[in-house]
Amino acid sequence: MDSVKQHTAPFDGRASRRLLARLRDIMAGSGTGQDRLDKIVTLIGAEMGADVCSCYVMRAGEVLELFATEGLNKTAVHKTRLRVGEGIVGDVAAQARPVALDDVHAYPNFAYRPETGEDPYQSLMGVPILRGGKVRGVLVIQHAARRHYAEEEVETLQTIAMVVAELVAAGELINPQEVFSTGDAALMPARLSGVSLSGGLATGLAVVHRPQLTIRQMVAEDADREQQRLADALATMHSAIDDLLASPSLAALGEPRDILETYRMFAEDRGWLSRIREAIRKGLTAEAAVQQVQNDTRARMSHLTDPYIRERLMDLEDLTNRLLQHLAGKRSEGDGGTLPDDTVLVARTMGPAELLDYDQRRLRALILEEGSPSSHVCIVARALNIPVVQIADAMNRIEPLDPLIVDGDHGTVFVRPAEDIQMAFAESVALRTRKEQMYAEVRSLPSVTADGVPISIRLNCGLLMDLPHLKASGAEGIGLYRTEIPFMVRSTYPDVAAQTELYARILDEAEARPVVFRTLDAGGDKILPYIAAGEEENPALGWRAIRIGLDHPMLLRQQIRALLRAAGGRPSLSVMFPMIAEVAEFEAARRLLRMECARAEADGYALPGDLRVGAMIEVPSLLFQLPALLPRVDFLSVGSNDLMQYVFACDRGNPRTATRYDPLSPPMLSLLKRLVEACDGAGVPLSICGEMAGRPLDAMALIGLGFRTLSMAPPAVGPVKMMLRSLDVAALRQYMNGLYDRSEHSARTKLHAFARDHGVLI
Ligand code: PEP
Ligand code: MG
Repeated sequence: MDSVKQHTAPFDGRASRRLLARLRDIMAGSGTGQDRLDKIVTLIGAEMGADVCSCYVMRAGEVLELFATEGLNKTAVHKTRLRVGEGIVGDVAAQARPVALDDVHAYPNFAYRPETGEDPYQSLMGVPILRGGKVRGVLVIQHAARRHYAEEEVETLQTIAMVVAELVAAGELINPQEVFSTGDAALMPARLSGVSLSGGLATGLAVVHRPQLTIRQMVAEDADREQQRLADALATMHSAIDDLLASPSLAALGEPRDILETYRMFAEDRGWLSRIREAIRKGLTAEAAVQQVQNDTRARMSHLTDPYIRERLMDLEDLTNRLLQHLAGKRSEGDGGTLPDDTVLVARTMGPAELLDYDQRRLRALILEEGSPSSHVCIVARALNIPVVQIADAMNRIEPLDPLIVDGDHGTVFVRPAEDIQMAFAESVALRTRKEQMYAEVRSLPSVTADGVPISIRLNCGLLMDLPHLKASGAEGIGLYRTEIPFMVRSTYPDVAAQTELYARILDEAEARPVVFRTLDAGGDKILPYIAAGEEENPALGWRAIRIGLDHPMLLRQQIRALLRAAGGRPSLSVMFPMIAEVAEFEAARRLLRMECARAEADGYALPGDLRVGAMIEVPSLLFQLPALLPRVDFLSVGSNDLMQYVFACDRGNPRTATRYDPLSPPMLSLLKRLVEACDGAGVPLSICGEMAGRPLDAMALIGLGFRTLSMAPPAVGPVKMMLRSLDVAALRQYMNGLYDRSEHSARTKLHAFARDHGVLI
């Protein structure tokens, strides 16, 4: 057996810089893309002392084609092709990771291609050519003698691959039509099917949330200068993070940990920084070095499914982006101020506050790779009346400024739509406009069923901009004001005065209509930038809503103080506590409210005439304490989004499970029916404010169950009112008696049949 020849002269920083400088000259030089690639493989082969250097480029249909070689038979160029996953080169592409082999013949997945004449070569090193997180090709060197590749050599080839990626992505090697199927900028129209998360139709230009900054210069002129630029950018990034961490409102919470702490932790991670510095030493600019380390991390971690690791990966991406922005000398948030007039946001994931960072007047639709209908970003999107569609690989399929049509009703997105699609879209918009007109007409009509049962329709709100809807929608009042939404869009905690002003404005705008203020419901997927819950394995079951309020009584008391001051002297105030799990929690929260009433009186503030205190039914345990709860509350409201997730043990934010259980299923219907009966028996007003109340068929079932107050997002009012005005409640009640004890997964089909047979407009 041959002995492995050890690598004796490591490819040092100087050699790497020299190679990169020469590469830069070739890239900037004359000739076609193919000419330059030919020169590049020759250069790499010579500089790295390899017998072979080849470049494979990803073509349509996930095929890697040999595009240039020095050392293999030139006749194989543009002939030899490997599928992703086929052979060593295919494996490098499939796993997006480098492979370094002393002996290729021992590799289990070795695929020998005789036309290349590669049989004499024993050792091989291949690295992926990555751009924007996607594999664009594979760069390979081979040696005739068995030899071991040092880690430094692997890194050097990765660095070179980054520069080659620019040439591949420039579209000079393969025509732009084809680039589409490899996931790059394309001119071809495409129809992407996904899941509808919020209905509606919209058109606009794609804006990628947290876009990758384009790095203009890859190869550095002066490595020392680049190290200095990195150090400066890190310093400004640190001080920006420190400023936020040191803000008095954050300190006042006594919770020094924050999401920003995670960023700082990463930013100080020695491994991360030293890898960036090393890449600069090898000849990259600071930006290219940051990007290379990110590409590498992403490639190494992309196959991991652990949600904790995936979230850390997102944090790291965010940090990389921040650092790149500091390097570019601009630290802009969200839209960077240059949003198109009609913007369709495309994001991997997004929090509700991030959505609100964008100029709402320009937002037309949202496309998410991950999300579910009851995630808070979707709730906010519905409040903004924009369609949301989930498309698993949206970021790969849509390029910035692509024209898009978003059909939120059917979960479809048309990318660069052809003319016939545009015309069909115009027709759908016209149809929708006609429907909207019908809804508009119905809004001013009484909210009474066909057999004369009055139904109170209220709105779910959380933004001042929702309030104009209140008058226009024909709703009776606000059934759920989500107070956390204004908190989420601020970078610091709003003090009592700021909160008082906000709540007073809401009451002013509502005029005499009732408003139910829900106290702060943060945690879970509603992250406040200045409160850190720390790392939680199950945030939905964690430190959220009233639990935070009871653990930080000052936080809740300040909010109640502001509510009392805002409603002082007015006829009424309704306060509702979220996520109450037991009567003792409700009592504890109400004690704080009483303390604040006493304080207000002592301070000479007028109290509201009628102070009504209620709880949300979201945590199933509370359902087992109704006899103790009902005499103590002034009203109850079902938060069906959370109640569903806890009843079925099914994460509302996880797209895999979010739609697994149906609110119109026998267990949920029976549970709600018993609750209605208990409340009716005790004379306690009951409403429902989860998303199901705004869906016409679900709302029909709720009315059949006995609900008489439904609270929903503003756009749902028209469709629900139209439905109920055509509904005979007595007939439905009777029909539903046969549904509660059935064994099917859902009663939806049966309820649908009832609606169809009885002419209910859903
Ligand atoms: C609910 O859980 O149904 C609800 C209305 O509250 P949120 O969606 O804000 O958690
Ligand atoms: Mg809830």
